[in-house]
Amino acid sequence: MQAYYTAPVARRLAAARHLYRDHGQDLARDPAIRSGLAGIRRLAADLEEQMQAMDMGRRCSACAARAGGGCCSAVMADNTDAILLLINLLLGGDPGWQEDSPAECAFLGREGCTLAVKPIFCLNYNCSQIREAAGRGEMETLERLAGRLLSAQTGVERTILEWLGRQEAEEI
Ligand code: SF4
Repeated sequence: MQAYYTAPVARRLAAARHLYRDHGQDLARDPAIRSGLAGIRRLAADLEEQMQAMDMGRRCSACAARAGGGCCSAVMADNTDAILLLINLLLGGDPGWQEDSPAECAFLGREGCTLAVKPIFCLNYNCSQIREAAGRGEMETLERLAGRLLSAQTGVERTILEWLGRQEAEEI
């Protein structure tokens, strides 16, 4: 399981797709995982609503369109792991993989990030331009909603790892 976190990112994505193909239906049927995924959906929608209210989509797109702009650089893809990518697949997403722009994160698509569930750093990072444009209350709400989502993601990740561990033990 260590390879889910330490293998090259393309192999983590391949491992996630493999797990989804072999266990996706059973994982989605597990009551704890199903309820955790529903919680992630709800919390991600709340965070998205707050980001829209703060005009972050337009600000981030405008920044990314400038030469040297944007914070989704190539090294950021390394913050993903196979279980996080599996959660994206279980949520019905399809993590993209771009190699056209090597300086950018491999999961950055034409319309922005292709991950519905993002790594911790991506959710926690807010550049100085966002911080300066936002009021204190807006930033507090943003950080609280991101924290709730991250906590839900971590919980589902743990539950999936336990499920896979039990599966592995049964197969021995
Ligand atoms: S937000 Fe998405 S595209 Fe941007 S660095 Fe994070 S994973 Fe990559």
